[in-house]
Amino acid sequence: MKAWEKNVRKVVPYTPGEQPNRPKMIKLNTNENPYPPAPGVLKALQGLDEDSMRRYPDPSAGVLVRALAEHYGVPEQQVFVGVGSDDVLAMSFLTFFNSGKPILVPDITYSFYEVWANLFRIPYELQPLDENFQIRTEDYLRDCGGIVFPNPNAPTGIVKNLDEVEKIAAGNPEVIVIIDEAYIDFGGDSALALVPKYDNLLVVQTFSKSRSLAGMRIGFAIGNEKLIRYLEDAKYSFNSYTMGAAVLAAGTEAVRDDAYFKETLQKIIHTRERTKQDLGRLGFSFLDSKSNFILAAHPSCPARELFEALKREGIYVRYFDKPRIDNYLRISIGTEEEMDALIQFLEKYLAN
Ligand code: PMP
Repeated sequence: MKAWEKNVRKVVPYTPGEQPNRPKMIKLNTNENPYPPAPGVLKALQGLDEDSMRRYPDPSAGVLVRALAEHYGVPEQQVFVGVGSDDVLAMSFLTFFNSGKPILVPDITYSFYEVWANLFRIPYELQPLDENFQIRTEDYLRDCGGIVFPNPNAPTGIVKNLDEVEKIAAGNPEVIVIIDEAYIDFGGDSALALVPKYDNLLVVQTFSKSRSLAGMRIGFAIGNEKLIRYLEDAKYSFNSYTMGAAVLAAGTEAVRDDAYFKETLQKIIHTRERTKQDLGRLGFSFLDSKSNFILAAHPSCPARELFEALKREGIYVRYFDKPRIDNYLRISIGTEEEMDALIQFLEKYLAN
């Protein structure tokens, strides 16, 4: 090791799902939305003028913050936006998890949490899911440096009731509780309803899944005004201009078209439920996901083998080589036609 290397901030980075680009592939590996964004989004992008490129964007991301505040019925001062919810979550870890006490995180969850904790030198303790892959509320009712979990959880898709989420927020008044609601639009009750009651609660959501804008990178947090102010202080100490003009225009249009948003969600939810039936018919066991993916295992064919076979066929799903879930595939919900192709292939493959 070079002498200078001992002072390098070393991290083991997060590994995102593959982004292959094959002509006729079926991409069910990163929980993207199979439908295009609201029609107004493309129009807004086409309407961008040269000044909006030449000049710096509004550092406060005002139009987008206002659109979100209006949509969710909260004051603008309670909304923070960032470059995908990854950016919002990273800023939140940096800002709120500074007590030196371990934060509590589920053992099977979004693996970026551990990466940020390591990056920012935040101690953490993994809390095992129970035998049904549920987050146990009682594990999160004790002295700690903060709490973060997704609801619905990923990659299980299992949703926690709002009263259980409330117990965790109410039981931890001295630390910040972050609920990562990347998938909440696909099922479950949002903790946004609890924000007026708990000043330690931060709800994070994203435009990447339910609003079909993963490529634009937009995430947001809603919480007590004071929390948002602290987040902004951290953001402005790091990079003032996180959201470009094109992103702001696209995001604002996506929020405004609620009818399109709801229609797309209904289609995905319908396809998810139908896919559960098809997987069940093929002998898969799966968790009752309320998100836009299903975690499924087959009793006689190892997940890794299925993963490779699907990939050869141009069907991409996600495989996690991790204890307890290493015989499962995480399958994102695509269009009806994409799921038909998946099911047909599985049917043929498993028959051989
Ligand atoms: N939270 C969870 C639970 C996720 O699965 C993802 C998607 N990888 C994210 C946050 C981040 O999504 P994005 O940065 O695209 O908003």
